[in-house]
Amino acid sequence: MLSFEHRYATLPEPLWVASQATPVARPELIAFNAPLARELGAQDIPDTTTLAEWFSGNQLPPGAKPGALGYAGHQFGNFVPQLGDGRALLLGEVVDQHGKRRDVQLKGSGRTPFSRGGDGRSPLGPVLREYLVSEFMAAVGIPTTRALAAVTTGERVVRQLPEPGAVFTRVASSHIRVGTFQFIAARQDEAALKALADHAIERHYPEAASADDPYMALLEAVVARQAELIARWLSVGFIHGVMNTDNCSLAGETIDYGPCAFMEQFNPQKVYSSIDEGRRYAFANQPAIAQWNLARFAETLLPLIDGEGDALVEKATDAIRHFDTLFNAEQRRLDADKLGLEAESDQAEAFMEGLESQMHQGRMDMTATFDALTQYVASPSDQRREDVLALTQNSEALGEWLSQWQAAQVASQNTDRLAAMQRANPVVIPRNHRVQEAIDAAVEGDFTPFHTLLAVVTKPFEDTVEARRLAAPATESEQVLRTFC
Ligand code: AMP
Ligand code: MG
Ligand code: MG
Repeated sequence: MLSFEHRYATLPEPLWVASQATPVARPELIAFNAPLARELGAQDIPDTTTLAEWFSGNQLPPGAKPGALGYAGHQFGNFVPQLGDGRALLLGEVVDQHGKRRDVQLKGSGRTPFSRGGDGRSPLGPVLREYLVSEFMAAVGIPTTRALAAVTTGERVVRQLPEPGAVFTRVASSHIRVGTFQFIAARQDEAALKALADHAIERHYPEAASADDPYMALLEAVVARQAELIARWLSVGFIHGVMNTDNCSLAGETIDYGPCAFMEQFNPQKVYSSIDEGRRYAFANQPAIAQWNLARFAETLLPLIDGEGDALVEKATDAIRHFDTLFNAEQRRLDADKLGLEAESDQAEAFMEGLESQMHQGRMDMTATFDALTQYVASPSDQRREDVLALTQNSEALGEWLSQWQAAQVASQNTDRLAAMQRANPVVIPRNHRVQEAIDAAVEGDFTPFHTLLAVVTKPFEDTVEARRLAAPATESEQVLRTFC
């Protein structure tokens, strides 16, 4: 079905280590992403039983050569020199219809040489969450790994309690992480470091190869992609939850969906992850954390970048500082679209600050707020204005903001403002309680809520009855305040 290649496997040994999947008892296909398979060049898609065999790891798809990837990482700020794929297997790379090389990887397929104390498995819940959230991110145009398949194993995995096991198949531009560079840098293997950097340049940033200082150009390009990515996360209220350096992709994709969640009531300090006790990865900390991760990346590249001593460090530091400028520019552009204002003035920023403070103080749901503003611009009636005001606990203050914003909008030269808002403000996001509801039903053997939610969140701008039902914020009793991986 897929034509596998194995370029990454030619890199020095600890970066790619041959490994096999551990067969599972009774693989059953939950979902298969046929449009993505076709994008990857699949002509004919085999029957469900074969797909379940392949994407559980029970049988190798033709041409696959499974291996686990080595990497290190700072986990919650502490450096771990060897992490690696403890429960994942790279089947190989596929060159897609656009000529782009992409990894196909099983997750939850059993122990590998990097498993340490882990069982190499994945419970069903996180598999379904990753499927839903990554496909939503793709649908709103945020760079992300994709979901190709999900399979139940017919076996139980033990976490807090025994849960059904599952295997997830994801597609990534690559699985090269900041932690991959840290892994090689910590081993002080400069030849391997250069091989890895050259591979990353060829694969993701080919224009850097012809720069005066290719490794400096690589650093700048990675900084730019991360700045854009994090601005886009914030624009939809996404909280990754585990922004460790091993979960920071060189290609600038969202990767390693764990206890991630979308913010409901706007609060910059919001955290959902049960393991983020220090609130290191709170919503508004994400840009600073990305920048911190990029500084760790820069450190690994110093032996390759032209220059010496303080001048070299200063040069790399400047590239990291530049994150702020790039992030702010992208955020300004996104904010302008979300509010239907022009990006060229400071106006959008000022209005966004005002609205954020309204949302925070008025305990407003972020997605519902931008959706209601979009509806109001679509048909500026008293009723629609009331709909916006109904979202806050402080309608007097919001009313003032609303009048000023509306005046600014009308005065602005942005004739495309409604279209911009409709593109920037999804009607529906994968709300935590809906994701949890889909998981709970699936654990009981009913996958209907999962499929219904998937269909809706992969068309996040479509305003249908079903979308409206699933778009509604959680009531007090429905709220899911903690997420687990
Ligand atoms: P994550 O928090 O998913 O980014 O994973 C951090 C590290 O722990 C990675 O090296 C994973 O491969 C490893 N890991 C997570 N869960 C397991 C598991 N069940 N078995 C083996 N390794 C695991
Ligand atoms: Mg990870
Ligand atoms: Mg801002």
